[in-house]
Amino acid sequence: MADSDLETVVVGGGAAGVAAGKRLHRAGVKCLIVEARPRLGGRAWTFVDRSGFAIDLGCGWLHSADRNPWVAVAEQQGKTINKTPPPWRRPSLPLGFPVGAQRDFLRSQEEFFARVSERARIEPDVAAAELLAPDDRWNNLINAVATYISGAELDRISARDFDNFDDTGVNWRIVEGYGATISGCGENLPVALDCPVSRIDHTGKRLKIETSRGVINADQVIVTVPSAILGESDQLFVPSLPDKIKAAQNLPLGLADKLFLSLEQPEQFEKDTRLFGATDRTGTATYHLRPFGRPQIEVYFGGRLAADLETRGDIAFFDFAVTELTGLLGSEFAKRVKPIRIHRWGVDPFARGSYSYALPGTADCRAALAAPVDDRLFFAGEACSRGDFSTAHGGWITGVAAAEQVLCVRGRMHDRGKFKSQPLNVIGHRDGGG
Ligand SMILES: Cc1cc2nc3c(=O)[nH]c(=O)nc-3n(C[C@H](O)[C@H](O)[C@H](O)COP(=O)(O)OP(=O)(O)OC[C@H]3O[C@@H](n4cnc5c(N)ncnc54)[C@H](O)[C@@H]3O)c2cc1C
Repeated sequence: MADSDLETVVVGGGAAGVAAGKRLHRAGVKCLIVEARPRLGGRAWTFVDRSGFAIDLGCGWLHSADRNPWVAVAEQQGKTINKTPPPWRRPSLPLGFPVGAQRDFLRSQEEFFARVSERARIEPDVAAAELLAPDDRWNNLINAVATYISGAELDRISARDFDNFDDTGVNWRIVEGYGATISGCGENLPVALDCPVSRIDHTGKRLKIETSRGVINADQVIVTVPSAILGESDQLFVPSLPDKIKAAQNLPLGLADKLFLSLEQPEQFEKDTRLFGATDRTGTATYHLRPFGRPQIEVYFGGRLAADLETRGDIAFFDFAVTELTGLLGSEFAKRVKPIRIHRWGVDPFARGSYSYALPGTADCRAALAAPVDDRLFFAGEACSRGDFSTAHGGWITGVAAAEQVLCVRGRMHDRGKFKSQPLNVIGHRDGGG
């Protein structure tokens, strides 16, 4: 690949990069997805366990499924969509959390969300934690749920950005895996794997993209690396782009990690139900029992708890889960669970976290992150989305939007005779996936 010459390079082959590459490829643009990992998908990653179950270590839920473009992609790939309502939309098991207390908690949480929405319209933006009702007994659990939603506690999160999240409340899953669907979507695209990009030099007439396998010359680049990585990369662009790096720093990645456990005698529990490890503290995990009816438990850890456990290794997650589960179900329960797999996203060098949130006062940074530079550096990825941030469909939407911007610029250049290549297939195409 050394010293290649291309029209457009897409840096990163996650949801956004695959969507952008697909749109460009379909339009006849000579493009290449350059991905640091040995696989496509990024934070979308399906692992098949010994029993043959497809386990999503990253994204698993097709959020806003009634308008999520990955649904059509999965259907075109012949995958199976499971429409069972998610456990968080149903009552939790009453273990340590009686039904009446659950009702109280949901009421408190709804009132908190309403205060956030109201405050979000007023200047200045504040940390969402400021909208917790003083002395509400459910504050710790509301905060724990925030660590699952945002990967961070409410004291770190912009109330306005939190409120901007746009969700239709319809959540489906893909039996064969969300990660497998996203990587499968990139199968026939031009891709260079195992190929980290170290520099994007935009000094000259053409871009020079330095990779571990040589330099690529290109007209445009779409950068889709996670905001946490961009925020640490002040050497990535030459000349540097301090405003872009600042915007990325304001949109760090929160941390959420999933541990999968095998479960003996699963029939004790109803399919797709859940338990909270505790209801009186923020540092607690949530337990999705029998996902898809499988003999498993999917344990979700978020925020500072996940960050702390990551420093102590994979076994710390298992030990924590067993301690919480035996506290609720008795000491014999420890014999019924075994670890299957966890991925620590915070120490993953090509992710550095799970999904983006905005620091208080910085919700506008999503637009700043997404803004093109000089009509040749374009940006995509979940953190660029105003309302679909932190999701894989946010990745798709921003990836296609960046590709459309590239096509628009190339169309204009072509009209001016700047590019001699074949005419572009720009008008009348909407990428429906597949
Ligand atoms: C535990 C967990 C649970 C989640 N649950 C859900 C869920 O249920 N539903 C949902 O919608 N979302 C969920 N998400 C979030 C979702 O996975 C992400 O928002 C989405 O996959 C991000 O896509 P992206 O393309 O923006 O970024 P990424 O997938 O991170 O893609 C960026 C790519 O850039 C590559 N890269 C990094 N540095 C370089 C470099 N220097 N050179 C070249 N390539 C580079 C990375 O390897 C990566 O492949 C979850 C994430 C995690 C971690």
